[in-house]
Amino acid sequence: MVKIPVTIDLSGQIEKQLPAELAGFIRTAGEITSGQGQSLYLVGGVVRDLLLGRANLDLDLVIEGSAIDLAHWLMQDKQGKITTHPHFNTAKLQWHKWDIDLTTARSETYARPGALPRVKPGPLSDDLFRRDFTINAMAVHLDPGRFGELIDLYGGMDDLKHKLIRILHEKSFIDDATRVWRGLRYEQRLGFKLEPVTLKLLKRDTDMLDTISGDRIRYELECILGEEFPEKALCRAEELGALAKLHPSLRSDRRLGKKFGKARGFAYPNLPPQGLYLALLTHSLTSGEIECLISYLRLPKSVAQIIRDTASIKARLESLADPGPAPSRIYHLLHGYAPLAIVATSFAADSPVARRHIELYLDKLRYIKPALNGNDLKEMGIAPGPQIKEILNLLREARLDGKVTSKQAEVELVREWMAERTL
Ligand code: ATP
Repeated sequence: MVKIPVTIDLSGQIEKQLPAELAGFIRTAGEITSGQGQSLYLVGGVVRDLLLGRANLDLDLVIEGSAIDLAHWLMQDKQGKITTHPHFNTAKLQWHKWDIDLTTARSETYARPGALPRVKPGPLSDDLFRRDFTINAMAVHLDPGRFGELIDLYGGMDDLKHKLIRILHEKSFIDDATRVWRGLRYEQRLGFKLEPVTLKLLKRDTDMLDTISGDRIRYELECILGEEFPEKALCRAEELGALAKLHPSLRSDRRLGKKFGKARGFAYPNLPPQGLYLALLTHSLTSGEIECLISYLRLPKSVAQIIRDTASIKARLESLADPGPAPSRIYHLLHGYAPLAIVATSFAADSPVARRHIELYLDKLRYIKPALNGNDLKEMGIAPGPQIKEILNLLREARLDGKVTSKQAEVELVREWMAERTL
């Protein structure tokens, strides 16, 4: 019996799930392209998410023609910004609050594992075949006559139905091992499973992560940390050997999940800053190991600072766990470190006493300042110079430890200091 392929029409989902402005935009784009005798498609993650009923406003459009020409046609009567990459014939549109990627349909070949691909224009079928997973390799017609028709050449629908992450060919992870991390991210985000052959090849090819530059790995890690529950993909990465490729000493277990949960509570309703997540992930590493990871991933300075500071505070945890230190002692143990490093330590420290002291610092001690300032001291007759700083520190300490509680008491303390010096 001949099987007649069923046409799946996604025009309803497009109207329902995309804001009217965007749905209108892609309809017009399809009409313009078709008027030029070319074909336009919606592709990738947004198609997957239309089918899953998940929100996704990152539109990727593929044209069998020229993406840069299309960008100019589209923006002719619209206010928006076009960024083009002539080498790949791709363009990015920033229109209202939307970012829209336009790509010329292309095929890709890899000169060696992990290299950036060589690309050349090709039909849509090649463009879909170069993609990472079947569920990301579907497209939707945007030409007016076929608007909304699903194109599923590699079994994406079936895999969506069975909740499977499947690569398109056996060499996929070898060509581009970033797909290892991408696979784990989709698997955990969507609650899917790596399809058995894909899983076997992923395990076989995890070593190919060594062929990928630190910058690209950092990007994948940033994507993972942008997920709702990054610890899920990190745990799976540990299980499958990918986490060890970041650094062999990294661990992701239930305790890390708990700490990440605290980070989410801290940052809510926003996502936790990546530096905070990374400080928690690297908390068990030595300073030397942390330096290796920072230089491998070429982490931005501010993030590296948080991680380094967290490691330095770790060396002070024993002192912070001492019962009953003066508040000024706690202040001195923590002062000067990046605030997020101190927050990270409060989530990561094992000792409840240390945690309490860190919280005291974060909630109260760090804001305590003397009432007098440098000018007041000069007016009281203190000569400008290092002694101003010395007295301000003395006043802060006295405030922290409750030895002075008013401006008048501070004035008296300064006078005592002056009297001692003139003896
Ligand atoms: P997300 O939902 O996380 O934004 P996405 O599916 O939109 O994911 P992008 O990283 O924006 O993913 O990439 C867009 C599309 O480009 C993907 O859906 C996939 O088809 C393709 N793609 C991206 N990275 C790769 C890769 N490393 N190898 C093959 N195809 C890729």
